[in-house]
Amino acid sequence: MHRTQAPAIMNGTSTTHPGRSIVIRNGRVIDPVNAIDAIQDVVVTGVRIAEAGHATSDGEVVDAAGSWVIPGLVDLHVHLGGEHSARSGHRMLALAGVTTAMDLGGPIDAVLDGASRNGAGLTIAALDRLGRGERRGQSPDDATILRAFRETRARGGIGLKLHADTPVSPEALDAAIGIAETTGSWIAIHCGTTASASDLTGLREAVAVAAGRPAHIAHVNSYCRGDTADAATEAEEALALLRSAPALLAESYLSPWNGNWGGCRDGVPEIARVGTWLSRAGHPPTETGLEAAIRSGAAAAIVASRHGASYVSGDAGVEAWRDAGTMIEIGFPINPFESRVRLATARDERGFTVAAIATDGGGISRNVTAEAGLALIALGGLTPAEFVLKASTAGAVALGLAAKGHLGHGADGDVTIIDAAHSRVAMTIANGEVVMRDGRVTGRGSRVLTPPEGVAAVERTGCRVITYDPGTSGLRNGRHRVTAA
Ligand SMILES: [Zn+2]
Repeated sequence: MHRTQAPAIMNGTSTTHPGRSIVIRNGRVIDPVNAIDAIQDVVVTGVRIAEAGHATSDGEVVDAAGSWVIPGLVDLHVHLGGEHSARSGHRMLALAGVTTAMDLGGPIDAVLDGASRNGAGLTIAALDRLGRGERRGQSPDDATILRAFRETRARGGIGLKLHADTPVSPEALDAAIGIAETTGSWIAIHCGTTASASDLTGLREAVAVAAGRPAHIAHVNSYCRGDTADAATEAEEALALLRSAPALLAESYLSPWNGNWGGCRDGVPEIARVGTWLSRAGHPPTETGLEAAIRSGAAAAIVASRHGASYVSGDAGVEAWRDAGTMIEIGFPINPFESRVRLATARDERGFTVAAIATDGGGISRNVTAEAGLALIALGGLTPAEFVLKASTAGAVALGLAAKGHLGHGADGDVTIIDAAHSRVAMTIANGEVVMRDGRVTGRGSRVLTPPEGVAAVERTGCRVITYDPGTSGLRNGRHRVTAA
């Protein structure tokens, strides 16, 4: 077992940070990196956590009595690139207590444009999707993959995501993992290639192909939906696979809902897997079947509004999906409870087998880490400190952001205040600013984690730059499994 490297920051500097203070009084401060779980104050001065009690005179006092005060949530899997997500995703994350998030799939230019126009004060990183826009079945060769990594980095992304719905060959997956390693790029894998599916067959293959090299395995719960065996058995196999491959960084999410494209053409869903989910729910794998499923509640349309997005079933859901000519996202409540809970809580000798709780949310309305995490805590599946490690610290360590994921002196001023009694995020403070209070989002702009080649592209958008250093990334240095002291 090891601890995170974050405590070094606490000892690192005694510099005072000028600026106004936010004094968060009398909350239950839960900061496992610094072994704190106590009723005390947290002071944010300027953009950093100050020593408790060291507020400047123009401090704003926040009464947190009865609330939990934790490091801002770090979500390693969100979507901020689609039209709606780029518009509302930042807001939705601030409402959910997230202060740092990684977009998994781009398009990178849309993510950066949205971060600039519609930012809510968060820190983000972004990955583009390998093979976007290319013909299905045309697996890229090594030169194309190398070019794709170079292009995404030059545009501000830290790497690429591979996706089962734009499948590459196992050979291309192998090449992509190797190129990510040699170029210091992030690689995330939605398992499933031309030789496997988006289920345990894809996860088995990814573990075998990675062969000890690092990669981020997206939403492990998605491969444990009962496609190859019962969900509980699948979860155990997924955990055994991950234990056998400690260089893989896995996350899982807690919402029962999945999400995919609801568009239909010639009377059938454009995404074949949507047809499979319809059949499994007892509906024909057709456009008519999808309509019946949305109407019955076996599926839902993801309906965007000015305020965000939500899963809508029944007549209203059908109407929204029809109004869009079927061309919107939809979802099915198909993530089984047994595998979701097991994956979120499983531990082994290195820590949590699935390192982080993420959401696959952002602009998709399943940013439920705080509320579902509190439910897991109430059930005894996680301690509050373990929840903080999985929902905040793990992501910070993975991204190499040593000043995030804890509340030590000198840490970034990223704080989430949770009204635990009501399972509600009461306040989100990001980079020393209150970005959300009682459901009102006031944060603006974004900070973007980018490799040196992407700095110019990010600066052009007006976003603040944070340079990504793969050397400090827990994904790259293998130290992504966080454990309490
Ligand atoms: Zn996703």
